[in-house]
Amino acid sequence: MRTWKWMFTAALLVSVSAAAQQPSESQPSAQPNAAAATPSGPTPAASDATAPAQAQTQTADAQAAPASQPPAAQSQQGTAPAPTPSALPQPTTMDQVVDRFIEREHGLMKALASRTPVVETYLQDLSADPQLGPVPSEDHYFLGRMDMGIQVDRKDYLKDQDKGIGIQGMETRLLGGFHKLYKVQYQPTGFSWMVYADRADFDRSHYEFHYIRREFLGDVRCLVFDVTPKKNSGRGRFLGRVWVEDQDFNIVRLNGTYAPAPRNSYFFHMDAWRLNLIPGYWVPAYIYSEEGDFSAGVKNKLAFKAQTRIWGYDLKKGDKDDELTQIRVDSVKDETATTQDASPLQAEREWQQQAEDNVIERLTRAGLLAPEGDVDHILQTVVNNLEVTNNIDLPRPVRTRVLLTAPLETFSVGNTIVISRGLIDVLPDEASLAAVLSHELAHIVLGHNLGSKYAFNDRMLFSDDSTYSNLGFKHIPEEEVAADKKAIELLNNSPYAQKLDNVGLFLKALQARTPQLSALLTTHLGNPLAENGAITRLPALATKGPALDNNKLDQVAALPLGGRVKINPWDDKAEMVKTAPVAITSARDKMPFEVTPFYPRLARYGSSTNPSAAPATAAANSNSGN
Ligand SMILES: [Zn+2]
Repeated sequence: MRTWKWMFTAALLVSVSAAAQQPSESQPSAQPNAAAATPSGPTPAASDATAPAQAQTQTADAQAAPASQPPAAQSQQGTAPAPTPSALPQPTTMDQVVDRFIEREHGLMKALASRTPVVETYLQDLSADPQLGPVPSEDHYFLGRMDMGIQVDRKDYLKDQDKGIGIQGMETRLLGGFHKLYKVQYQPTGFSWMVYADRADFDRSHYEFHYIRREFLGDVRCLVFDVTPKKNSGRGRFLGRVWVEDQDFNIVRLNGTYAPAPRNSYFFHMDAWRLNLIPGYWVPAYIYSEEGDFSAGVKNKLAFKAQTRIWGYDLKKGDKDDELTQIRVDSVKDETATTQDASPLQAEREWQQQAEDNVIERLTRAGLLAPEGDVDHILQTVVNNLEVTNNIDLPRPVRTRVLLTAPLETFSVGNTIVISRGLIDVLPDEASLAAVLSHELAHIVLGHNLGSKYAFNDRMLFSDDSTYSNLGFKHIPEEEVAADKKAIELLNNSPYAQKLDNVGLFLKALQARTPQLSALLTTHLGNPLAENGAITRLPALATKGPALDNNKLDQVAALPLGGRVKINPWDDKAEMVKTAPVAITSARDKMPFEVTPFYPRLARYGSSTNPSAAPATAAANSNSGN
């Protein structure tokens, strides 16, 4: 355990310094982006005002931010010393604290400048329901890679669905709100730009800082400051509150909006959280946005809730030239004891294994699949329960992996079953998890093998942002029907046979929300759970169980998003969330498939309580995780 932990730390140190080397390794990719960035900024004002702040920070950065040193100064092996910001003299006045967190904010921007994390925004437009309060009326989904080196740039993974991007000016893209009267057009970049308070001008000449109080966020004691833009300091300045941890004085949370907005435009309100995932730095991880008045009887022009998640900080830069050289296929290990050639059937299986390995590696590298981890053990247990009770004996073991994204989907490639984070989140119990996994296990048992074409490596040569158009694992309707039939057979023989009423309830809850959640139900790689307003997955089970009844507080048919799986934004590892049960006290607490604010329990890097702070949602009903 101790060794493992040590290795983990070492790996992070290596990656921090690898960031510093990236500019020299991949200049071709960095330059065009930088050019595009020049007219940018939430602030049209000139950005020269950062100079004084940077001058002040010189000492701190030299010690605290290895990534900010010139690449040439770094050793090739990445053995840079750990940042030691706490070795600096502690500030003694609030003024000094302000100077320090301004410095640290600029240090963070430099440290992350070479990073291109994945950014996902899932947004639900809301309308008022007399019984349930605000409920989703429509939804939107954005997924892309964000280049942290320039203002805000998102390469979209979902180009086809989102044609608007690219034709508008940078400023319009950044606003994220109204840009035409009476028509709201959500801008994906708009949700991701509270990653920093103010990219260009976060300093004393543009802002006033007022100390409010001390406050704990999770395990971390913070100093709370209100931040207001000075008069005439330009448009789109941060207005709100920051929480600053009291050891190294990094900002760990930002809450507020940007002001003033240009005419006919609108800046969203945001609550942005950072996690201490690498020594010395708190990296942006979650951003919650909400607009609208949710009190009864209010008519909103604009009402929505949105969750933005950032992960994949440690991914390789998503540059096409770079990727071609990174392609590496180390599958098809010789595991047989014989020295003979493969028989035709063995050859067929090896071929499928090669395709499977190619796909899994490619999806992991694009930041779409979590590396093997804790969640897989749980999924594996459920699959094993199905296999053992059905006497399934496959030539290769079935593996499971977690797709890091929110839309509800499962698919299988070769003997690997993939299930999305969002789907694990909303499933109410183990029987429902078994049901969705049984469908994929059925495909494997029936030999519905997809994707053997991916055994050809040329088909793996594409850029990360075109992953969805290059990979796909959709079965024909006949195979879907056959898999559903087989799945029910598997379930009936399994320990879950007595709990299929719960699956029926889940499918009913899904059916009830299907018309409003088309984005959440739009799959990108596998077959959808529902299509054209009707359940398509295991429809035979949808009639089982009691009727859906919101008034029954003990009937939890589906959970809100974000309650089960958390992702480490640095290394993409997925783990199960541990939350204490909270009693449901009204129908409004159920929030099936809904978006809630984030409330991660903050903890310092390497602390025994929590190596990578756990996001708990404000969701009330996480008590059904049996
Ligand atoms: Zn299927």
